[in-house]
Amino acid sequence: MQYSLEDGKEQGLGLLEKRKCVMMRFMKKIIAEQFDVLVIGGGPAGLMAAGRAAQKGARVALVEKNDRYGVKLLMTGNGRCNLTQEAEDTVELVKVYRNGRFLLNAFKRMSPTNLRDFFRSRGVETKVEKNGKVFPVSDQGKDVLDALYQYCRKNMVTFFNTEEVVDIEFEENDPNEIVASRISRGKISKVVTRKKEISAEKYVLATGGKSYPQTGSTGKAFAWLEKLGHSVIEPLPSLVPIMIAEQAIKDAQGLTAHNVSITAMQAGKKIVTENGDLMFAHFGLSGPLALNLSCKLREVFEKGELKLFLDLKPELSFEQVDEIIRKDFEDNAHKNLSNCLKDFASPKMLALIFTLAGLDTHKHAGNLSKQDRLKIVTLFKKMEMTVEELFGFEKAMVTRGGVSVKEIDSKTMQSKIIENLYFAGEIIDVDGPTGGYNLQVCWATGYVAGESATKDR
Ligand SMILES: Cc1cc2nc3c(=O)[nH]c(=O)nc-3n(C[C@H](O)[C@H](O)[C@H](O)COP(=O)(O)OP(=O)(O)OC[C@H]3O[C@@H](n4cnc5c(N)ncnc54)[C@H](O)[C@@H]3O)c2cc1C
Repeated sequence: MQYSLEDGKEQGLGLLEKRKCVMMRFMKKIIAEQFDVLVIGGGPAGLMAAGRAAQKGARVALVEKNDRYGVKLLMTGNGRCNLTQEAEDTVELVKVYRNGRFLLNAFKRMSPTNLRDFFRSRGVETKVEKNGKVFPVSDQGKDVLDALYQYCRKNMVTFFNTEEVVDIEFEENDPNEIVASRISRGKISKVVTRKKEISAEKYVLATGGKSYPQTGSTGKAFAWLEKLGHSVIEPLPSLVPIMIAEQAIKDAQGLTAHNVSITAMQAGKKIVTENGDLMFAHFGLSGPLALNLSCKLREVFEKGELKLFLDLKPELSFEQVDEIIRKDFEDNAHKNLSNCLKDFASPKMLALIFTLAGLDTHKHAGNLSKQDRLKIVTLFKKMEMTVEELFGFEKAMVTRGGVSVKEIDSKTMQSKIIENLYFAGEIIDVDGPTGGYNLQVCWATGYVAGESATKDR
């Protein structure tokens, strides 16, 4: 399926459907730019909200400041889009998130299973990979975006791309008229873009957080929301790579380590232990383990030196690792160190370990002292690194913080402050680890926000 947002024509639809689209677009122009629901932000959350509201019969417009939709979505999962996490039990699933309880109602409406059905019925089959990560069978994130786009298109969503919303106008309720049971301060009357004003009965805000600002999510909406009376929990970069001070670690770039664990320590106190897959990069550490660990280090990082201890063999004790290495060296006593431990670690990992141990790899295994051997064992079980820096928003996969969940109705995604405003996606103060968890938030909250915004029309 191909489409061009620039000229508004789509390929992949039948002739009859194309004519219907053209007709509907023409009719909408006559009706002028007054909509039932206006969705701001064309990421996964906004596209889902717009499609669902339109499917429920509302006249919907979607405003996106980029010339294309889903710019960040296309980057997810390295272009493969890890769209959700395989999970049957939504009660268990929400426990993984910060402010997870808030998500329970939305996940019941659009669970990972429902989501996979949603995409299957739109031609995108999905598969489950290691650690429950769900991807499209095609390994193409573009297929996910195409399906969403067609969902909106077929339900006659009006698209305004290259339209940045720069302000939101608000009508304040008379304080005497505010009913005690509803604390609404008023309602949005219109949004102002750089080119026009657009008004609607209901508004869905899906402008994302502040991470990867080059994709369009700059977090400017947080300032409007504070102006409208919402509380915004300070947005912080989350799921970021970790810069490491030691040069040998940086020199090991390209090295990967699966099912390993890292313990973070500060002033001799354990902060956290995290398990998973790790990648060494020219700046230090990346991969799911480093990203997930980084969220737990942000607050303590400012407080003092932070040490990481990498355990390459978490399933084995120190003594067991020592025994394996001792036996290997005994069996290969006349071989160079570089020809030992071949079944125990990759050549690249061994090279790093021998470098850190300061050992000459031409030395025969039989000539190593016990002290040298214990140095190697220690490096397998407790490789020490110093955190130099945590990356900021420019490399953050998600934003921690956002609109306070206390001010959003979890059943509808409706603001408790502004009566005709709804929220969807990363703008909300909820976040999860890597593995499809964060897109699951976008789909579920987007679906619920879109549906709720069509009620009481
Ligand atoms: C490199 C990378 C890889 C990732 N991989 C995964 C993954 O595999 N799985 C996973 O679950 N999550 C992943 N994530 C996280 C996931 O992409 C986000 O959580 C998700 O995109 C958030 O969706 P959203 O719709 O809330 O916001 P966004 O995707 O940020 O979309 C917001 C949209 O609003 C538009 N906008 C902003 N302000 C305005 C305005 N004033 N006027 C008009 N439009 C506006 C923006 O241009 C943007 O298009 C990844 C993130 C990154 C950066």
